[in-house]
Amino acid sequence: MLEVKDLHVTVEGSEILKGLSLTINAGEIHAIMGPNGAGKSTLSAVIAGKDGYEVTKGSITFEGQDVLEMEVEERARAGLLLGFQYPVEIPGVKNIYLLKAALNAQREAQGLGEIPAPEFMKLIKEKVASMKMDTSFLQRAVNEGFSGGEKKRNEILQMLVLQPKLAMLDEIDSGLDIDAMKVVADGVNSLRAEDRAILLVTHYQRLLDYIVPDRVHVLVDGRIAKSGDADLARELESRGYDWVQEETAA
Ligand code: ADP
Ligand code: MG
Ligand code: MG
Repeated sequence: MLEVKDLHVTVEGSEILKGLSLTINAGEIHAIMGPNGAGKSTLSAVIAGKDGYEVTKGSITFEGQDVLEMEVEERARAGLLLGFQYPVEIPGVKNIYLLKAALNAQREAQGLGEIPAPEFMKLIKEKVASMKMDTSFLQRAVNEGFSGGEKKRNEILQMLVLQPKLAMLDEIDSGLDIDAMKVVADGVNSLRAEDRAILLVTHYQRLLDYIVPDRVHVLVDGRIAKSGDADLARELESRGYDWVQEETAA
């Protein structure tokens, strides 16, 4: 589904990704782990098409399409979606309108008409309930006064409504208490599907006790230094990241 080859990315003049390669098949959950500043967020941001990143070498293809040739909206419509690491506030815009507008933009790209209001209400109520959120949440302005946990739930809610083909989630566990993390993890697990892939960026292993990844990759110094299965995440939890760096250097 997603193929990243020898990706080199520069941010404000310094090279952050230095030859990163990664293949993700449909149906899989991949976790990107690694020390702070390794380039994890940079990778998901570049795939999503955020501004400020210069690709100097390498390629990204998504279902055979050249992602680097696509505008950010095209990527979203193709089913490539990144949640927000620190979701922005959009004062005055109700959460429910943003979700509906995003869903309708996606349907339009698929040649479908606007979702009928009753159908949308049914869908949204079901998803809100599954995230153990109150429906009053939908009437609030996007992220305005949301707690950290509410922002994360909202990010997963967006994924549940939009059902992207590739869902990228950056540090969705940061700042969550254990109960909120379980709800968020349940939401992510319910996204698992044969025709969907999930890319989880996480600094800590804790989340991976609840979302079991098919592959774990350690990003060190702009490259994937090591890949493995879920056991690798546990090893990182007990041993830290230094040994991977040392192994790579050797
Ligand atoms: P991670 O998510 O693994 O913690 P990031 O991808 O956020 O790492 O950052 C990788 C490196 O790129 C860091 O050294 C960071 O300071 C730098 N960086 C990221 N974004 C910017 C930016 N907008 N301007 C300058 N430096 C940046
Ligand atoms: Mg960071
Ligand atoms: Mg990050």
